[in-house]
This record gives sequence, C-alpha cells and structure tokens, in this order.
Amino acid sequence: MLQTASPDVLAALQDTFGFSGFRGVQEHVVARVLNGQSTSAVMPTGAGKSLTYQLPAVMLRGTCVVISPLIALMHDQLRSATANGIRAATLTSADTDRMATIDAFRAGELDLLYIAPERASQPHFRELLSSAPVSLFAIDEAHCVSEWGHDFRPDYRLLRPLLDAFPDVPRLALTATADRHTRADILAQLGIPEDGLIVAGFDRPNIRYAIRPRDNALRQLKGILEENPGPGIIYAPTRAKVEQLAASLGATGRRVLPYHAGLDSAVRARNQAAFVASEDMVMVATVAFGMGIDKPDVRFVAHAGIPKSIEGYYQETGRAGRDGDPAAAIMLWGADDFARARQRVGEVEEHRRASERQRLDALAALVETAQCRRAILLRHFGEDPPETCGNCDNCLEPAEVTDATELARKLLSAVYRTGQSFGLGYLEKVLSGQSDERVQQRGHDSLSVFGIVGASEAPLLKPVARALQARGCLVPTEHGGLALGGTAREILKGEAAVQIVVPPKREGRRKQRGSG
Ligand code: ADP
Ligand code: ZN
Repeated sequence: MLQTASPDVLAALQDTFGFSGFRGVQEHVVARVLNGQSTSAVMPTGAGKSLTYQLPAVMLRGTCVVISPLIALMHDQLRSATANGIRAATLTSADTDRMATIDAFRAGELDLLYIAPERASQPHFRELLSSAPVSLFAIDEAHCVSEWGHDFRPDYRLLRPLLDAFPDVPRLALTATADRHTRADILAQLGIPEDGLIVAGFDRPNIRYAIRPRDNALRQLKGILEENPGPGIIYAPTRAKVEQLAASLGATGRRVLPYHAGLDSAVRARNQAAFVASEDMVMVATVAFGMGIDKPDVRFVAHAGIPKSIEGYYQETGRAGRDGDPAAAIMLWGADDFARARQRVGEVEEHRRASERQRLDALAALVETAQCRRAILLRHFGEDPPETCGNCDNCLEPAEVTDATELARKLLSAVYRTGQSFGLGYLEKVLSGQSDERVQQRGHDSLSVFGIVGASEAPLLKPVARALQARGCLVPTEHGGLALGGTAREILKGEAAVQIVVPPKREGRRKQRGSG
C-alpha cells in the first residue's frame, strides 16, 4: 500500500526545505519512517535520498543517527542540512568539538548526528545512545553492508548488534545502486522486513547511451568533445591517464581540467568549483570525482576505459543530464581493460572472486550487446523495461550481428597450437597464412591452423579476439601473449557460441554535419 503524506508533513517539507512537494517515492519512504516502519530505499543518485531521513529527523522527537562511510560525504551533508536550519553535527576524528556535540545529543538538541560505522559500532557509542533520545537510524550507502555490493565494507557488518539493541528505533537503509542480490542482502543484514523495500524507477530517459570499442582514445575523445559543446566529465582509469588526457585535450583549445585524489586538496577544490560554474568545461577525472557534486547541467559523461561494474557505470553516467535535458553517455572500451580487471579479480580474497567475476561478465555483456543498452541496464536493476528505448546507439543505429563461433574456434585453436604465448598480431599471421622467418623458424607454417582464415574473415579476427578477451576466454600472459581461459574449451568443443557485433566501416561511418 502506498502511503501518502499528511498536511503537516507537507508543511514541514515547505518550511524546512522550501519544496512544494515530494519527488517520486520520497513521500512513501517518509510516510513509512514517520510511522515507525523500517525501510530500505533504493533511489538513483539525484532522486533526493537525504530528504527522506532529514525531514523525519526534523519532525520526530529525538535525534536521527546517520551512519555514513566517508567523512567528506558527512561534511557535505552537514553543510546542506545546516543551511536548511536543521540542527546537525558530525562525530568524527576530524571534529574538535566532540564533547559539545555529545552534550547537545544527550540534551535532545540535535536533529541529525552523522557518524562512521567503525565508530558507531564501538561499545561506548552504544552506551551514549542509551542516554540520548534516538528517533531513527539512517544507514547511508547501505550497499556497503553486502558482499554482493560493489563496495563492501566490513564495518557495516558490525552495525547489526547496535541496531538490535534499540528495537523500537526504526531503520532506514539508503542506497543508489543495488542489484537484486544486494537488495535482498541489505534487508537480511540490517533486519528490515521484505515489505519495507522501496525501489524508485532507474530509467534516465534523457541520457543517450553509446558504447564503442576504443581504437584511438585521443582521436575518439576529441570527436566526443566536438559533438558535445556543453560541460562534461571524462572518466579515466588512473591518475597518470587523467593528467595525460587533460593535457592533450586541453591543447584543442577547450577548457579542460584534471581531477584525482593525488592532486592537492586546494587544487581539487578549485578545479571542482571552476567546473560547477562553467558552461563548457570538461573535467578529466578518476572516479574520485562526482560524489556529492551538484551540477545539474552536465551534458555528457565519457568513459575512456571500462567502469568497475554496471553499478559504477550507472552511477557515473547518472551525473549527466540531471536537469532533464538531453545528455550523452559514451563509453570507450578495450579488451585490455577487461584483461586487467580480470587479473585483479584473481588478486582479491577467494570468497569474493565469484561475485567479482559475475560483475565483470555482466559488464562484458553490456558492452558487447547488439540489443538496447537501456533495457540491459534496467533489467540489471530488476526492472522490466521495453525491448527498445529509441535513445541508445543500438536502438538508433541497429548493429549488424554475426555468428563468429567458427572463427573464434580457429583463433582459440591457433592460440593452443602455438603454445599459448603469442600476441594477436602473430596469430593473425599464422591464421591467414603469411609466412615469415619467425613463423618458419618455429615451424608454425606446418600447423593445421596455418592459413585457415580467408581474406574475407581476417578483418573479424580483432573484434572476435576483443569479445573473447572481454569474456575471459582469452587472457593475456605475462609477456604480452594470449592464453586460453574461462569457457574457451566449451567454445573449442562447439558447446558455446560466439556472436559479435560487426564493426562499422571507418569511411562513411558518420556523415553528419552539414550534409543534412
Ligand atoms: P541523492 O542523495 O539521492 O543523490 P540528494 O538528496 O542530494 O540526492 O538530492 C538531489 C537534489 O534534489 C538536491 O539538490 C535536493 O535539494 C533536490 N531535491 C530533493 N528532494 C526534492 C523535492 N522534493 N523537490 C525539489 N527538489 C528536491
Ligand atoms: Zn535502446
């Protein structure tokens, strides 16, 4: 049953925030919380999660204790709450006025108290709570409690005993991204009933999604900048890459600034402020950039390499077009991105590898698909969207798909027969029957795979190799060669098929601009 808000709730909304109404599921969430019912709200970034605990915090007697993972996030929230006249404080190692905060908390003079999970789970905080009026527990970034989530934090697991010690205080778990597994886990881990799950719609219809293989990142990014004159963010995987791209793209005359955690905090703050104020600037950044930044008119978000997961992709692209006007999300991906990511999976704790691998498989399916990108995204978040959206690359320019199973088998078998140590360039030579000194010396010109790929098929070897690498069926060796991995054997045995999107021909790919 959808709950609606009473007139005094609407009056408080107006008085405290100056808003004339709720947005989407906010009303439902607030009504439940005011009713004392524990709730888990999954709402995309920008949907207005903070209000769902801040408004009850103002209306209910006592203090709403907010668990938040990062001091920077807490201070952002503190600033905006205080600006709305809400009595709020943080309890962190960075605060020098902790005693005053504790006194105010005990005296019932705080609406909001922000605290990190590791501090909240300590025994003396539990004692403090016993001596102070608590109205609500708000658990921000609640996906951190789940090992299925993309950002598991063991400290979140320690919260449960604290929550259980105050059974009369309702709990509100908040997150922007949670797939089905993670959602169920949040409910179970935090002791929230199943009917307390509220999920807001995830669709961002004004964002146009496009995902392309990366052939020349700089040239492609320059093209993206030309097509998108408004403010934009380019996410790059490393600090070095950020610096390098910012310098090269800045040379085009466009205003471009870098942002990453290695920069001096004053420089970061200055660059961020310049970006927020600008109408055409491009920020080249690591994923450190974006959280808590209020810039509704970002017109494009580009990824120079793959994001960490579909959740990450959704969150990062979600920073585009928050004003509702058309915006673009363009990802450039390479087989090496997946190779690196899969290598990192091998380095995480054993019990987490399966879910990390699934995350990469889901991402690989999104980048490789010829189907509607939005449909895949929304299905990932548990929705049941239409088959096509009309506003993604695959819907706008349907891609040609071809069955490349045979060619994939030829490639995999060449990898196997040459000893799993050569790179794609060499394998292409062997497969297409180009003999040279190296090939002859190794006797590879007498292998059964020598020359079995004809001239018409040869151009598809690269996209096939890319698809196989994305799936983990081909993995890089230490010395830059390729070896078999994942489900390669099933493909070799003819038990699994490989479909690929045929790459468009370079010339005449885009005939826009001027020609009508
Ligand atoms: P989230 O935490 O879900 O990303 P925020 O809580 O930061 O979102 O809210 C995003 C923006 O939406 C903020 O600028 C906030 O002031 C605004 N907002 C939230 N709720 C409403 C509302 N009911 N009416 C108008 N604006 C709102
Ligand atoms: Zn689509």
